[in-house]
Amino acid sequence: MFKGFPGLDKARTFRPKRNHRVGTKRYELHKYAQATLGTGNLHEAVTLPEGEDQHEWLAVNTVDFFNEINLLYGVIAEFCTEAACPVMCAGPKYEYMWADGLTVKKPMAVSAPRYVDFLMTWVQNQLDDEKLFPTQIGVPFPPDFVERVQNIFKRLFRVYAHIYYCHFDKMHELGAEPHLNTCFKHYMYFVYEFNLIPKREELAPLQELIDKLLERDVEAFGQREGGPANFPHCGDASDRGSMAQSPTAP
Ligand SMILES: [Zn+2]
Repeated sequence: MFKGFPGLDKARTFRPKRNHRVGTKRYELHKYAQATLGTGNLHEAVTLPEGEDQHEWLAVNTVDFFNEINLLYGVIAEFCTEAACPVMCAGPKYEYMWADGLTVKKPMAVSAPRYVDFLMTWVQNQLDDEKLFPTQIGVPFPPDFVERVQNIFKRLFRVYAHIYYCHFDKMHELGAEPHLNTCFKHYMYFVYEFNLIPKREELAPLQELIDKLLERDVEAFGQREGGPANFPHCGDASDRGSMAQSPTAP
């Protein structure tokens, strides 16, 4: 697991990778996360290490997931063009509009490549802002830190949704499908562990896939400790798809 696939090395990274500075707590946690991932048990890989600060853990993982999604999108970026993907969507039912609440207040319809570009720039600017994602020891996290992280995870999820709906064949053709699934599964474990996408309807476009990927893990690793409380209920279809019929709020 997590061997990646050969194509990824050659893939153009959509954005320059964000690095954790060597010698910092952040770097140690990053290394720890990488090492735990190697065991293949994703539940363990996402759990807050004993005695560690949850905000630090969220920060490290936000950077790592951002890098990962960047790399995955980079694999298909040349196929995700204005012409091929004039709308940022996940199939015909889900369309996403862009607004960042600062420079763009009114949600606007944009092509998928523009949406992803806006989104990645928006995330990157926050990661680079010492006031929002402090890396210095003793500098506090902002009071709205968790909300910010939730917002980032909600929006990054849409890149997965777009890749699965619109570029899955290409991913498959390139041999990247298993890697895509593993990355996405890891992402969802983390999302559930820290309740980073509280609005269940946001997950609707990929809910079936999520259920399937997690089911396989229950078979492989057994039921999670304390039951599947954090996992979405597989049969809970009540709130699926309803809000997402119309363009989803940014
Ligand atoms: Zn596309």
